[in-house]
Amino acid sequence: MATFFETVTAAIRDFEENGFDSVERLQYWTDRIRRAAAESLTPESVLNEQLTRALGSIYKRMVDDGQILKKHPGVPRFTIDRLKPKLRGELDRRMMVSRSLIKLNREAMVEKTTQRFAGWASSIPAGGSRAVETKGVKDNIRKALTSLSFEERRCVIDQSAKFVSSLNDIIATDGGAIAARWHSQFRRAGYNFRPDHKERDGRVYAIRNNWAIEKGFMKVGSAGYTDQITQPAEEVYCSCSYEYLYNLRDLPDDMITQKGKDELAAVRAKIAAMRA
Ligand SMILES: [Zn+2]
Repeated sequence: MATFFETVTAAIRDFEENGFDSVERLQYWTDRIRRAAAESLTPESVLNEQLTRALGSIYKRMVDDGQILKKHPGVPRFTIDRLKPKLRGELDRRMMVSRSLIKLNREAMVEKTTQRFAGWASSIPAGGSRAVETKGVKDNIRKALTSLSFEERRCVIDQSAKFVSSLNDIIATDGGAIAARWHSQFRRAGYNFRPDHKERDGRVYAIRNNWAIEKGFMKVGSAGYTDQITQPAEEVYCSCSYEYLYNLRDLPDDMITQKGKDELAAVRAKIAAMRA
């Protein structure tokens, strides 16, 4: 069986010699290139397996082994157990989304590859041409396909980041988080950070309608609410994350109301009295 590159080389030679003299000739070669392209890729089943393994191990580590609790101080283990159906559902949903993304990506890349060939081939006059420059053509036709394996690897990484973010969001929402501090990876070497995400680094966003706001203990800060910005890992290849805050005392000063400060002082006094 001819490799993708051999097929492209043969197709180019055929057009060099004969040119675009019939639709059938073009159809014949685009079909062959499409098939060779699809065959040259890592089988979809293998990719899906990698994906299942990657997302499955995140779920095991975070949910089954309880590592996610480290990110949510004060949230008890039974909250995780109670939320398991929801967390499990998120795993299933993420698997489905990732699989269809991989499928669509592949179809688009194979299509792009054959389109590039057809674009070039249909420009060669009938009877062929010796004047065609073939190396550039080959490279151009191969480009979409070689970038695909890189894209697919990144897809697994990106879907994993999105999955982690959603799991944390489920725990935070149910566990009573009151705010979230944004963490950007902009210091990481080679990370192509978004300037506006770097801008968010360290800022604290209030979670709307949380118990502390309802009790009048806290107010929204200058950063605003979490629902006014994109979520960590929501945008493609975003590696940002949230550190969830559950206690009044962890908020920046300007997000605690006078009533909240009085409450904190009262709690401290109570603890001091208990110790005395
Ligand atoms: Zn980001």
